Amino acid sequence: MPPKKTSRPAVHVANETAAKWHDRLHYFETRQDEMVRTIREFVEIESPSDNKLAADRMGALLAGRFQTIGGGARIHRAEEFGDSIEITFPARAKTKPVLLLGHFDTVYPMGTLAKMPCHAADGRLHGPGVLDMKSGVALMFYAIQALQAWHGGLPQPIIVFLVSDEEVGSYSSRHITERLARESAAVFVMEPAAGLRGAVKTARKGVGDYTLTVKGVAAHAGLDPGKGHSAILELARQINAVSKFSDLKKGLSVNPGVIRGGTRTNVVAAEATVEIDVRIKRASQAAALDRKFRRVKPFDKHCKLSVEGGINRLPMERNAGVIALYKKARLIAQQIDWTLEEAAVGGGSDGNFTAGIGIPTLDGMGGVGEGAHAVHEHIVISELPRRALLLAGMIEGA
Ligand SMILES: [Zn+2]
Repeated sequence: MPPKKTSRPAVHVANETAAKWHDRLHYFETRQDEMVRTIREFVEIESPSDNKLAADRMGALLAGRFQTIGGGARIHRAEEFGDSIEITFPARAKTKPVLLLGHFDTVYPMGTLAKMPCHAADGRLHGPGVLDMKSGVALMFYAIQALQAWHGGLPQPIIVFLVSDEEVGSYSSRHITERLARESAAVFVMEPAAGLRGAVKTARKGVGDYTLTVKGVAAHAGLDPGKGHSAILELARQINAVSKFSDLKKGLSVNPGVIRGGTRTNVVAAEATVEIDVRIKRASQAAALDRKFRRVKPFDKHCKLSVEGGINRLPMERNAGVIALYKKARLIAQQIDWTLEEAAVGGGSDGNFTAGIGIPTLDGMGGVGEGAHAVHEHIVISELPRRALLLAGMIEGA
């Protein structure tokens, strides 16, 4: 008589799966110090967006590093900014690749490292760009390496795209990001997680900027005060008017952030300018807001207005593709008893571009910490292993 088929009880299988994920977490825990060393190495190469020479040094190092684990690097030359780096990892399966999106430029000018050295203290690693997002770039490296070790090769083709001008609007890299995203099944953006609980980002506001310039009529403030038409006075009224475009309940905000104008106190100002940051929650808000800016009229008929700029990044909306990725991420996290939260944030990233063209995107997959763009920027070191695990799991399941 043939032996009776026995199916293992479901709870046993579940325990086995959880054990596999705990083993994988352990794999990354044993590499935590190595990850920290790598991140420190990346942070100690300064790479401000506006310094091509410095950014290119960083890009070349990263290209070389990913080549050591089998990536094929392609350099996308840029004139004004650093070259962007595309690294492809083939796989046995001929499926669509997964796009890992990152940037290696930082907001810190050259020389910041001297005042803000990379150092570890109280379980945190501090330094310019450590959170945004050199740790995110390192996480990509370790997740890919782990998948190769676990599977004896990659289960999915991967494209790593490292941008050099994200912090200044991604003008040189945007078209490449969008092209690579169109070829990909999913996009994981290695921007910092939201808050110290490490939430992934499932929605981002859209971002734009406008420059409103007033040309008035100059006059001597003492001799001919009545003859002048002050660009500053006109600008003040315009600032008041455009501020009212804000609709905070609908997630739309308009912030006049920088003003300039005038030459001397005894001259009626001939010119004045305001630079305005705008945020929108829905793509559908973009056109109406833009129309309002284009239609501004002078209060003083002798003043001339001109408006430049527009919406740069449309919102990353929490659509079905985003939700599906988040659900997958939450299931992976559950395997190691981690409740992974999601967050909607006001800042934009290159994830806005990829989500904007309809490619499933999950953002905030990078390091956990605080102080992005600030003197106290740091990551929490002990969070690195599970961030790497989450990324590896997401690539595997994409
Ligand atoms: Zn960033």
